[in-house]
Amino acid sequence: MRRRIAVVGSGPAGLTFARVLHRHGHPVAVLERDAAPDARPPGGTLDLHRGLGQLALDKAGLLTEFQTLSRPEGQAMRILDTYGTVLRDWQPRPDEQANPEIDRGQLRDLLLGSLDVQWGRSVTRVVPGTRDGVLVHFADGRQEAFDLVVGADGAWSRVRPALSSAAPHYTGVTSIETSLDDVDTRHPDLARLIGDGSLAVYGVNRSLVAQRNSGGHVKVYARFRAPLDWHTNLDLADAEAVRTGLLALFDGWAAPVLDLLRHGTAFVHRPLYVLPVSHTWTHVPGVTLLGDAAHLMPPLGAGANLAMLEGAELAESIATAGPGDLDDAVRAFEEQMWSRAARWAKITTAGLERLVSPDPAEALAVFDQVQPS
Ligand SMILES: Cc1cc2nc3c(=O)[nH]c(=O)nc-3n(C[C@H](O)[C@H](O)[C@H](O)COP(=O)(O)OP(=O)(O)OC[C@H]3O[C@@H](n4cnc5c(N)ncnc54)[C@H](O)[C@@H]3O)c2cc1C
Repeated sequence: MRRRIAVVGSGPAGLTFARVLHRHGHPVAVLERDAAPDARPPGGTLDLHRGLGQLALDKAGLLTEFQTLSRPEGQAMRILDTYGTVLRDWQPRPDEQANPEIDRGQLRDLLLGSLDVQWGRSVTRVVPGTRDGVLVHFADGRQEAFDLVVGADGAWSRVRPALSSAAPHYTGVTSIETSLDDVDTRHPDLARLIGDGSLAVYGVNRSLVAQRNSGGHVKVYARFRAPLDWHTNLDLADAEAVRTGLLALFDGWAAPVLDLLRHGTAFVHRPLYVLPVSHTWTHVPGVTLLGDAAHLMPPLGAGANLAMLEGAELAESIATAGPGDLDDAVRAFEEQMWSRAARWAKITTAGLERLVSPDPAEALAVFDQVQPS
């Protein structure tokens, strides 16, 4: 008998899971809260590592298409101090495929392909162990039963409470995102400053990172240490007020660097939250988690990669499990996911401490440790 499998969420984790399961001939219900694929801006660029995100795409049969779409030149990295002096300027070799960049929207479309996602299906909670199986409750009052429900619904997962009482906590670092369009024609000086990949400037408890996306689009991330309520006297919906607040926060930094904020078009406030490092739970038959729902960590280039590889690995385990072995396959997958995610959570947590730190030399040391020679 066919097992009834659902995945909640169509981010990198949920879509990779569904794609690989489909590839093995298994149907899966993809339940997504958003009303349509383009209901929200897709976000910035992602670097997919050879042994993680790219491996997942290979398992999904999509690696060649990824190589056509991705930007190996986007791996370039330039580091400045707050006076604008270039401290590092790393350029990838033309054949460097370790961590090419891809726009999040392009990756989503690649994974979506002809998948049949159920849009506008907001899950409110999941109840395992009922007579019909695992019961999924939706915001519109409906319910549906499955044999396995995979929570790939991100940081504020509605599936997670079925397994764990853990909740994300604030890291002490806030990020404000802004963006520049048509940078090569509208801001050629900034385009040259940023180069083909990323530009990072590290100061005392602050950083500014600009990342080139495709089509002349640039995302800028201003990160700083602050209490959660730092903005009590600021209207976050007022872009000019946020810009003025940011320029005051980064006061004294070189003028070309501050132009990244002066020319930004809209500002998105994103306090950085994480789950506890080494988040695990007592196995519950019929429910599991993937990606940020399982191990939300600082956004330092690992989250989407892990989410995708986990999606691919869980799908393969399910596809190859015998009729009575579904639960054992999920259990074994969880053990493997927990130990790898804990390693990355430690690395990225320590990384955030050093990249937004009282001593900017720490950030440079991080770059020197991870950069391929
Ligand atoms: C600024 C920034 C830059 C980053 N850069 C990188 C990078 O370069 N490399 C990298 O590897 N990682 C990066 N990350 C981390 C990465 O974005 C996440 O780890 C990744 O998106 C997690 O994927 P996911 O599928 O688990 O969750 P998500 O991407 O959060 O997807 C969850 C999906 O579930 C849906 N959903 C949520 N709740 C419900 C519900 N109740 N019912 C139904 N659907 C629901 C959401 O709408 C969404 O579609 C970055 C993160 C940020 C914030």
